[in-house]
Amino acid sequence: MRKPLVAGNWKMNGNAVSINELMGLLVSGVKQAAEGVDVLVCPPAVYLAQVSELARGSAIKVGAQNACQHAAGAYTGEVALPMLAEFDCEYVIIGHSERRALFGEDDALVAEKCAAALAQGITPILCVGESLEQRDAGQALAVVGAQIEAVLTRCGIGAVADMVIAYEPVWAIGTGRTATPAQAQEIHAAIRAQLAEQDAKVAAEVRVLYGGSVTAATAAELFAQPDIDGGLVGGASLKAADFLAICSAAAA
Ligand code: PEP
Repeated sequence: MRKPLVAGNWKMNGNAVSINELMGLLVSGVKQAAEGVDVLVCPPAVYLAQVSELARGSAIKVGAQNACQHAAGAYTGEVALPMLAEFDCEYVIIGHSERRALFGEDDALVAEKCAAALAQGITPILCVGESLEQRDAGQALAVVGAQIEAVLTRCGIGAVADMVIAYEPVWAIGTGRTATPAQAQEIHAAIRAQLAEQDAKVAAEVRVLYGGSVTAATAAELFAQPDIDGGLVGGASLKAADFLAICSAAAA
């Protein structure tokens, strides 16, 4: 039985005051809203210490939005995985489409970062997903398959057991256009089938999240799909009531 996970990706939003307020509401609401669900927030790196402190003793887990593949050294502006571990980061988002599109992260780098996170004992949330152009060209399954394959080649199927995968169609992220439950389920099932070719147990046990304009209104139907194990939530994770409602949808 896979335990659902709802992860909030705050992206580059918030400040010390707004984050205090948001965390206060999440900490007080999470127990009631999210019994049986893993709840994770991923703040900007500079707020990790603050958020970890505020989350302490609650059911809220803390993750990062990105990490460097190198453990230390002359990499100005980067944040290393051992540093994240010092702030109780249990998860790190890797290969988000914004990083792939805006910061030039390719499949090889994404696979390298996954390997580095696993070596640090931090669970990578590997993001995969096709663009609208690729979907319209009938390439969605092939694109996602190749993104997964790159990680399988670098890390091996055994490592996937210690990862989370997030299917995030690029055309659905931040656009208000959610994939239909059937569209999402088709890709989630294909991801699991691809993994099952190498290891049926890993395929059955790995959590595969959906991300892309998930709201309190759309979450329940998405999460009811057999291969969807929760969500990676951007915009709606910045509003406590919405995020808690999405967590509740995963608990149902
Ligand atoms: C995301 O940033 O991963 C995301 C899914 O964003 P949104 O929910 O805003 O589409």
